[in-house]
Amino acid sequence: MVKLTFYGGVREIGGNKILLEDDKGKLFLDFGYPYKKYRDFYEEYLKPRAGAGLLDLLVMGLLPHLEGIYRTDLETGNLWQQFRRAEHYRKLEDIDGILLTHAHLDHSGHISFLREDIPVYSTATTAFIAKAIQDSGKADFDQQVCYFTPRVEECLKGWKQGAYIASSSGDRQRHFCIADRSRLNEEAQHFWGEVIRHKKLDSQPLDDISTCSLNLRCYSVDHSIPGACAWGIETSSGWVVYSGDLRLHGKRAKLTEAFMKEASRLHPRALILEGTNVDRTTNIAEQEVYENAFKAINGARSLVIADFPARDVDRLLTFLQIARDTRRRLAILPKDAYLLRTMRLLEPEIPDIAEESAIVLYQETTASKSPAQWLKKTYEEYSSKVVLAKDVASNQQDFILCFSFWDLNELPSIQPQAGSLYVFSSSEPHNEEQEMDFWRLHHWLERFGLRGFGLPVERNGKWEIPEEEKGLHASGHACGPDLLRVARQIGPEVLIPVHSERPEFYVDNLRNSGINIILPTEGGTVEL
Ligand SMILES: [Zn+2]
Repeated sequence: MVKLTFYGGVREIGGNKILLEDDKGKLFLDFGYPYKKYRDFYEEYLKPRAGAGLLDLLVMGLLPHLEGIYRTDLETGNLWQQFRRAEHYRKLEDIDGILLTHAHLDHSGHISFLREDIPVYSTATTAFIAKAIQDSGKADFDQQVCYFTPRVEECLKGWKQGAYIASSSGDRQRHFCIADRSRLNEEAQHFWGEVIRHKKLDSQPLDDISTCSLNLRCYSVDHSIPGACAWGIETSSGWVVYSGDLRLHGKRAKLTEAFMKEASRLHPRALILEGTNVDRTTNIAEQEVYENAFKAINGARSLVIADFPARDVDRLLTFLQIARDTRRRLAILPKDAYLLRTMRLLEPEIPDIAEESAIVLYQETTASKSPAQWLKKTYEEYSSKVVLAKDVASNQQDFILCFSFWDLNELPSIQPQAGSLYVFSSSEPHNEEQEMDFWRLHHWLERFGLRGFGLPVERNGKWEIPEEEKGLHASGHACGPDLLRVARQIGPEVLIPVHSERPEFYVDNLRNSGINIILPTEGGTVEL
């Protein structure tokens, strides 16, 4: 018998943490960062205390109460005592691995807290993007997916209480097993073992997924980040298929179609399927984004700023094409350059920044005696392609600047001229904090006389993109009718919806389909 226990992703978009248990082994399907649960208690300046180890996360219900799976450097001797009577407490030591579907943090983020000897199974692209994100990120204690700095409990002299502080012993790398290992050439292997944060990295070679005690199938799918996959796991009750996040309207829709075909051949016992956009009836394709954004940008007289989701490489390439077609240059930030460079190690079709005349690198006005190593390296490698704020300011009609809300503080150095355009190519706000950011964004645009295009505006308390400016964002998630097609074509005996605020959609729409829908509960177990 197979047991599936849902520790996250239940009536929640993201934070997936699904435990699969079979006689042959135990696996987690994703181990994501639960943004919604965090938002209930925390914000930018109120965070779980890194110095308290795992305590805050366990007390606040952000991590499941599973003794034995977490990093021991974050546990005190008696940490677990207070949780042993908690409702879903369990001692769980023999975990065989994490099947990671893609490198979005709501699927990967909490891997940061797991024991480093628990292997992570993923595609090469997912592993490499996860490393690029971490290398170029803030190094927060809860965002250390690929490697981490062990913490030690220390008490300063004269202080009454100790805390967990980052040790100076160097970083430890997690053990990744790669589904498409044949794509790793020597240069790629070198990148994986490269020391970025500290002087030392206890690096781990990349292994193969055949090392898993369960028989696995990895299927590439299309999503708003490259390298996304779905998983098939052969269990004693039949195949269990887990979709991760997917869509049928992106540039790589064919991958999702192939996954559907192959998964249906397994005659799966169960399909765990996402349901982010169940209430949408149509999709916008990436080609439409190109056409709509091209029209807007082609008529712009001065600077163009393009705001699109981080790590959406397809969108970046869409704006690169628009830059070529409007005779502008795409000015990207160093973290985007680092990501493209990383992806090119695995995918030669990704443009080489050094050779691509339509890409330049925007250097932020930073002042640091010791810039991060990845940043130094990026500027060194592409030194001939660096443009400064003053270069953009004096030739505004030459550029499409890839900025998001968080980069707007560069604008005082650029001072956009009349006729400049801010193209918003991302999703509408989902919560009050994001609404506040849009309110601020509108003020920035007003201050600099920038015209917004595709930007959500507030009408009767609701933030929406004006009808005539829609069509600038292709979602990473399939719409309702497409999701039903995925379910019907794969045709599992049991369908379990996750990553959705309205899983009942499947119950309402798949009546008499022969598929049995089971709605999971938080911490609850489904037996197959
Ligand atoms: Zn995702």
